[in-house]
Amino acid sequence: MNCECITGTPATIRIDGDVGADPVWCHSCGSNLELEGVGLSDLLSSELDEWGQTYGEWIDWDHDKLRAGGIEMEEAFNQKGSGLASRVKKELVARFDVTFMPSTSARFYASMERREF
Ligand SMILES: [Zn+2]
Repeated sequence: MNCECITGTPATIRIDGDVGADPVWCHSCGSNLELEGVGLSDLLSSELDEWGQTYGEWIDWDHDKLRAGGIEMEEAFNQKGSGLASRVKKELVARFDVTFMPSTSARFYASMERREF
């Protein structure tokens, strides 16, 4: 599995949802990694994939604003992600360190909207 670090391979994998990307990244250089290359079990890999695809459901992309209940949706996403990340950590123990980055975009959008008033 390749990234842009000098070693050519990640030391720490970051679980972090983003639009249109697999939710696994090299924590050092920020390269997006292919979920299939990480070496997870099929079950966890597909759960992680499904979870990643729900990223940003709290944002109305057409209108670039937060949906009603968006903060709670993001909170649920982060809780699920944190649970998945600890399972990833167990599966990849001795191969990679694993860290989880919670999403803050709903809070970001909420603060933007407050500023408009
Ligand atoms: Zn890297």
